Amino acid sequence: MKLFPIFADLQGRRVVVVGAGAVAERKILSLLSAGAQVVAGAPEATPGLLQLSREGGITLRLEPFEPGWLEGAWLVVAATDDRDLNRLVAGHANERKLLINVVDDPELSTFQVPSIVDRSPLTIAISSAGSAPVLARRLRERIESLFDHTLGTLADLAARYRPAIRQARPDLRRRREFYDWLLDGPVAAALRARQPETARALLESALQTPQTPAQGSVVLVGAGPGDPGLLTLNALRALNEADIILHDRLVSAEVLELARRDAERIPVGKLPGENHDATQNRIHELMRHHANAGRRVVRLKGGDAFVFGRGGEELEFLKKQGIPYEVVPGITAALACAAYAGIPLTHREHAQSVRLITAHCREDAMVDDWPALAREKQTLAFYMGVGQLETLSSQLIAHGRSKDTPFAIVENGSRANQRVLHGKLDELADAARRHAIKSPSMLLIGEVCALAPELEWFGASVTAGDARAA
Ligand code: SAH
Repeated sequence: MKLFPIFADLQGRRVVVVGAGAVAERKILSLLSAGAQVVAGAPEATPGLLQLSREGGITLRLEPFEPGWLEGAWLVVAATDDRDLNRLVAGHANERKLLINVVDDPELSTFQVPSIVDRSPLTIAISSAGSAPVLARRLRERIESLFDHTLGTLADLAARYRPAIRQARPDLRRRREFYDWLLDGPVAAALRARQPETARALLESALQTPQTPAQGSVVLVGAGPGDPGLLTLNALRALNEADIILHDRLVSAEVLELARRDAERIPVGKLPGENHDATQNRIHELMRHHANAGRRVVRLKGGDAFVFGRGGEELEFLKKQGIPYEVVPGITAALACAAYAGIPLTHREHAQSVRLITAHCREDAMVDDWPALAREKQTLAFYMGVGQLETLSSQLIAHGRSKDTPFAIVENGSRANQRVLHGKLDELADAARRHAIKSPSMLLIGEVCALAPELEWFGASVTAGDARAA
């Protein structure tokens, strides 16, 4: 081991920083967050440091370095861009046996500042002993995305209840089991939901019973439209921690690839010939079964679970069963398809509103709405519309929308095989047929679609009149 790692308690202790530029400012801010008493010095300082010194946050000496500055210091940081000066400071620090870090100069340093992931009181520090700081930073980013920000709160809670847990679970194996439950189960979920009271109540009631509860939980996760880069960090964490993943068929293979290796993946989309309610009941039953067996269940849906995803029904079911749940929103197809086709859904000149509509319902259910849907200066985003194009275009035109209104159909939005078809409203059904548009496709209608040919940046695009793909 080249360097010996330590975590230093700098609370109220003097640390001298030589330099007062942007790099020094960053170091000073992190020293202050650890409670250090910072004395900084240089002939000139950043506006931020000048402000800090005026507020009394640091002592600032606007003059050239003097060895006397090191008096009373516990640590020294040199952050100037003058190597001779850094060497001079290091020399004085060494003479006084003070540990010094010269920023980006391992040769002159006697201690290194690691890259950190801060989940106080938990702190993860990474060092490459100065040999590959980029690698250390990369590693830090990875770890940063793995742990939720409430992890520190959970560590605090565990620390506070440690004596009580030891008393309630004197047997080591039982105690381990309890800690696993604490870290993975409903207590952690309640903290993530920012409900500390509930978390404490769950913890206390579990301590009252000799058997650690086997209650699992369900996370309803929006998987986005297909590009795994569109998952949120919360979605990624849920996939990393899952025991069971119940996923729709619309969820892309690349997204499933990111889940924990030994998580069981169960496709639960509609089977050919099966009716929707039967599918839905089967999903409810699977969630109940696995959560009650103490497993962490992820219910993974395409796009967002609350946009034409029956997510509401699933939560109602879980609520009724008393199964704890969380919801992680996903990027819904309308937003993703618009972005990946270069179509701003609203625009100061062309559209003041956007409507998300399902075209999959019975025709008569939509009749009342045609006049409102046909209004100008709004963008319509139709989900599940490829089977209804004839009706959609003719009704909109019959209710007053211009037949020249531009549309775009985005097929396989955000995926490698994305295709965008552009045209005018009266050629919609015909063009889609000629270009053999298939599901999943998003139909966007409105003035903003005229911007697509100019702003497009992803995948392939065809214009309705274009015979190439016909
Ligand atoms: N909950 C999902 C929508 C489910 S309904 C969401 O928020 O996106 C299924 C419909 O969504 C499809 O028929 C299609 O219209 C649309 N859709 C989903 N993924 C899509 C994609 N990658 N490209 C285009 N349309 C998509």
